[in-house]
Amino acid sequence: MMLDAWGDASSLSDLMSARNQSLSPIDRASHLRSDGDALALLWKTAAILPVIDGHIGAGDDGLRFVDAQMVEFLAASFEIGERYFLGQARDGGQAFFAWSTSWINEPSDEKVKFDGFKTLREVGSDLSELELTLAMHAVGLSNWHKSHPVCPRCGAKTVADLGGSVRVCVEDSSQHHPRTDPAVIVLVKDAADRILLGHQPIWPEKRFSTFAGFVEPGESFEECVSREVFEEANVYCNDINYLGSQAWPFPASIMIAFEAITDHPDDAKPDGTEIVEVRWFSRDEMKAAVASKDLLLPPTISVARKMITGWYTAKAGYTVSDLNGGESWRN
Ligand SMILES: [Zn+2]
Repeated sequence: MMLDAWGDASSLSDLMSARNQSLSPIDRASHLRSDGDALALLWKTAAILPVIDGHIGAGDDGLRFVDAQMVEFLAASFEIGERYFLGQARDGGQAFFAWSTSWINEPSDEKVKFDGFKTLREVGSDLSELELTLAMHAVGLSNWHKSHPVCPRCGAKTVADLGGSVRVCVEDSSQHHPRTDPAVIVLVKDAADRILLGHQPIWPEKRFSTFAGFVEPGESFEECVSREVFEEANVYCNDINYLGSQAWPFPASIMIAFEAITDHPDDAKPDGTEIVEVRWFSRDEMKAAVASKDLLLPPTISVARKMITGWYTAKAGYTVSDLNGGESWRN
């Protein structure tokens, strides 16, 4: 059965990241990663995104890039940073790097420590497509480099190489590549076109979202969808349909989005640990629950929110503005 959850193609590209439909706004230019001279030249005129302990240079108006001179100036207060080549803009060729570093003498005051810096969760919803692409890449790389300082084969130190796309062991020269952990995320529907959402105890009160979980070794995405939904919400699904994917570097995931149908909506119940409450929503029920603040949807940056909005607006008369609220991570 073809599922008509998304309406026309233009709304699909709005919903899921445009990256699913077309080229990324950034050309990663991987052929330049092995050309140290070219990278050194590009660095001189690059827009550089500083990353300090998972926080990126950002203000209310978006990302705050610095230039190479500013990095030299900042370097006095920070550990020697690593440069990661993020690529070039497709229009005009502007080069982008991340500069990932840590404080030498870490200020105890968090406000001073991260003045001018924000987490991706804080600013993600406010960024343009190009900015979000760069920020996701920079934060994902920085997270990985920071957590892989030594060689998993021999325990010796590793150093960043190939423009920050790998780490290399200084002893045995083994090359180690950034890891991305696949996780499925599932919009569960029933035959009446309602959707099932769950509440995790660590979330703000009234926040409900779709079901998600990491793919385990030896498991297909589809098997993972079935297992996770059954584990968390006690329902078996069929008609599993791929919707799209989104990078999710918190700290190193990619979310692979599916919708699935259950023929047993009345069986839905929470597992009691990961999920403590489940609720079915028709569109009218969702609209009323959002309006009365009885339902807080996931942040707009999240793939979960895009899936929910996609389902909601697929029927005439239901618009995105009905679901306003919950734009940021913790409100
Ligand atoms: Zn080694």
